[in-house]
Amino acid sequence: MTSQLNSLADVVAAKLRAARRAAALTGAGVSAESGLATFRSGPRALWRDHRPEDLATPQAFARDPRLVWEWYRERLQRAAGVEPNPGHYALAAMAQRVARFTVVTQNVDGLHERAGSPDVIELHGNVRRARCVRCDARVPAPLEGALPPTCACGAMLRPDIVWFGEALPEGVFEKAYEAVASADVLIVAGTSAVVHPAAGLAEVAKSAGGFIVEVNPEETPATGLCDVCVRAPSGTFLPLVVERI
Ligand code: NAD
Repeated sequence: MTSQLNSLADVVAAKLRAARRAAALTGAGVSAESGLATFRSGPRALWRDHRPEDLATPQAFARDPRLVWEWYRERLQRAAGVEPNPGHYALAAMAQRVARFTVVTQNVDGLHERAGSPDVIELHGNVRRARCVRCDARVPAPLEGALPPTCACGAMLRPDIVWFGEALPEGVFEKAYEAVASADVLIVAGTSAVVHPAAGLAEVAKSAGGFIVEVNPEETPATGLCDVCVRAPSGTFLPLVVERI
């Protein structure tokens, strides 16, 4: 296994050395080794008997804003209580070695930025922010206090997260599209590649002639697009690549 991972790391590092531009598309799996639960895998996937898909929606918030806020507050507290792992740090290090390196993430935990990645596009928002449902002001999500919290204007705040069924913030998908379409190498790490439009970005990179590397212990719908599939945790494999660039 180790020698196989080393040879795959040699291949990926050589591609990155030759790349003018590269990108990573990441998902919840990249933060699993920091101790954060992924959406669909693992015994902790349910929260108080609710499926995440039933909480992360505008309908759930309209029905019971306090319940939805309680879930996000718990996620915020968990995210604040963990550290980036070697996978996050390896992606940050790649940005020092490749002329342009963009991380496009579906994660809302802020760990890529905390690890030092300089160019991060957050497709789905960030648990550390809240947004006013009336005046659109963005403020840090409160770690304590009554829920749901209120804005200075008096209206309710909501988590600054893109929920199922909502559009991405204006311009964000376009930036992500541009980053992956112009990437000579795209690393797809820790995503089940089923949430759209993020899942379509691997296809965009492939059609534009990019070299696609999947890092995931399991197969995904994106596996068929990949030039290299690495069946290992991102925190194990990505540092091996950095050592070789
Ligand atoms: P997902 O839970 O659907 O899939 C996680 C994937 O990561 C799986 O394919 C799994 O095999 C893989 N994986 C698990 N451990 C791994 C590891 N150590 N290294 C590499 N891969 C590993 O997550 P998703 O694809 O990101 O999509 C679901 C949605 O979940 C996204 O919209 C995202 O916003 C949200 N989400 C974010 C967080 C976070 O911010 N940390 C956590 C949970 C869910």
